[in-house]
Amino acid sequence: MFDINKILRSNIKNLTPYSSARDEFKGEASVYLDANENAYGSPLDTNYNRYPDPLQYAVKKRLSEIKGVPPRNIFLGNGSDEAIDILYRSFCNPGVDNVIIVPPTYGMYEVSANINDIELRRVPLTADYQLDLEAIAAHIDDKTKLIWICSPNNPTGNSMHREDIETLLANFSGLVIVDEAYINFSRQKSFIQELTEYANLVVLQTLSKAWGLAGLRVGMAFASEEIIEVMNKVKPPYNINEASQALALAALQNVDQINTWIKEILTERDKLVLQLKNLDFVLDIYPSDANFILVKTTDANGIYNYLVQNGIIVRNRNKVELCEGALRITIGTPEENAKLIETLKDYK
Ligand SMILES: *Cc1c(COP(=O)(O)O)cnc(C)c1O
Repeated sequence: MFDINKILRSNIKNLTPYSSARDEFKGEASVYLDANENAYGSPLDTNYNRYPDPLQYAVKKRLSEIKGVPPRNIFLGNGSDEAIDILYRSFCNPGVDNVIIVPPTYGMYEVSANINDIELRRVPLTADYQLDLEAIAAHIDDKTKLIWICSPNNPTGNSMHREDIETLLANFSGLVIVDEAYINFSRQKSFIQELTEYANLVVLQTLSKAWGLAGLRVGMAFASEEIIEVMNKVKPPYNINEASQALALAALQNVDQINTWIKEILTERDKLVLQLKNLDFVLDIYPSDANFILVKTTDANGIYNYLVQNGIIVRNRNKVELCEGALRITIGTPEENAKLIETLKDYK
């Protein structure tokens, strides 16, 4: 049913990608005079004078071991935000095609659609923050190229029902993108293992959240080889810099540290939920599968400003549809969480 050629933009289908010096000569040599680099070195302790590997093979090989997916099914972006933009640029014709988002959800799907001049069709989540499959189906037409699903969802924190995502995958002839930025904190299984089942699935993950590497800007897309090939063709040739590749590779050796932190963060999350429930201005705390919680309060703006005055910054989601009165709070260290609770106890 899914045919990539039916959704690929014709200019991308016909694109001759940039051919770098490293694309044109791939072997080992002793003298490289082909890329106009500074052969003398860098004015630093580490040399960065050579262009990085355009396809980031070493990082992908390590990710492949961790995720159980072949390197050819992995795309790396300068943050997953770059992968989001590249999916628009590869598959959506500006001023012609449309995509579906399911608010409240991650803001970049909308911003990136606007930058690329792609019509956005909003199909709000149900009152319990799940997918409204009938409404989604009613908004799909032959110009609908992408459906963006965030699970666990930002800012609500919950996971979408797995069968609902599978229903979309099985029935939609465009791409279903499942953004799993928070999957490491979730009790749900990743959709990565469904890649062999669904040719129209793209799974996004990132090193920015559980992996603690937001500053390096490394995001991942997992998809069929034909989708990954298109994304590689469209991306800037050297989109992940050498320092980020080297540091990401080193960090990916420390899986145990990450798993320890994830356990601690989940323990802290449960503790924080219990303490927040005792505060009389807290109306509800939504079940979270992520490293943050969405807290419904009697006065989001008042509490937000009070916390700012006390040097604590949370995310005010009061203006977001279906999140009225809500603050999104990231789980911090035990000390930070204790400070938050102590401060909130004094709110009048
Ligand atoms: C934080 C976040 C991202 C950002 O990823 P980067 O890899 O840092 O660009 C993507 N999706 C969601 C839902 C997020 O919350």
